[in-house]
Amino acid sequence: MRTSSETAGRSSTHYAFDSLHALPCGCVAAIYRTHPWDVQVVAVEARGPHCVHQQHEIGSVLGLEMGETDRLSR
Ligand SMILES: [Zn+2]
Repeated sequence: MRTSSETAGRSSTHYAFDSLHALPCGCVAAIYRTHPWDVQVVAVEARGPHCVHQQHEIGSVLGLEMGETDRLSR
């Protein structure tokens, strides 16, 4: 739904799901690709039963990765 009164200056909500990755601790991380900067956001999607990392809560962002390899192929 789009309205005629969009909030100006808000352009950080363009996330596209990319892939899932299993972490060594048992957690599952989801990779999201942002547009238009082509930066990958790594977020915890599911927590492993034996994970000891307190920062691995569901929905927490672990870090950012630049999609340099993809950029070369475009
Ligand atoms: Zn973990």
